[in-house]
Amino acid sequence: WLELDGVTRRFGERKVVDGLSLGLPRGSIGCLLGPSGCGKTTALRCIAGFEPVDAGVIRAHERVLSTSQMHTPPENREIGMVFQDYALFPHLTVIENVAFGLHKRTRAARIRRAEEILATVGLTEYRSHHPHQLSGGQQQRVALARALAPEPTIVLLDEPFSSLDIELRERLGDEVRGLLKSQNTTALLVTHDQQEAFAVADIVGVMRAGRLEQWDSPYQLYHRPRTRFVADFIGQGV
Ligand code: ATP
Repeated sequence: WLELDGVTRRFGERKVVDGLSLGLPRGSIGCLLGPSGCGKTTALRCIAGFEPVDAGVIRAHERVLSTSQMHTPPENREIGMVFQDYALFPHLTVIENVAFGLHKRTRAARIRRAEEILATVGLTEYRSHHPHQLSGGQQQRVALARALAPEPTIVLLDEPFSSLDIELRERLGDEVRGLLKSQNTTALLVTHDQQEAFAVADIVGVMRAGRLEQWDSPYQLYHRPRTRFVADFIGQGV
């Protein structure tokens, strides 16, 4: 599971993430939702270990990962991450990209696992292609496959469907949800798209200027918004 308790990150005087507290049980999918600039990506970067925290505690797998005094480097956090720009290696084929993070296994086991996860995301026939030969949606699937291949217990997804058209976004959203659930992966994604958040996540947090206004099921957010801002923000997307 993943737990944040009062996590704060300052840039100069400004608290970009301001006392963020939330808990995500094992195998559940959470989503941080909010307008551009409210601190969603910064919160994800703190969890991944790319940013230190100025106050608060981040715990995962029952371990403390970050406090203002202590910082576990990203490579020791056992957390997978998919960025907005997917960042595939251009000179590697699809299967090589997916197998890249599996260095602890034998070569045969790496290929077997990469083939299995490529089949799950429906890209078996593209295994020998290079990223530039794929559409945006296909590249996004490769990035997801690469992040999920090592079976991380926690995965962070920053706007994973941002560059897709609405139809593909819905389909991939369903697929990703199924994939995460089948692996019992705990996931936290970030989006400014309310429909996407509600379609994929079990728990959604609405952020405003670094603060979490409400952390609840989509049903509760929709029917019992706790603040005016939540009501307006949720109301906008429907
Ligand atoms: P978006 O949806 O547009 O990506 P966001 O909610 O993810 O927005 P962040 O990317 O976390 O927001 O940024 C929050 C604020 O922090 C922004 O105003 C941004 O300019 C600022 N910020 C982010 N990183 C830094 C940094 N390294 N130094 C100074 N300010 C930063």
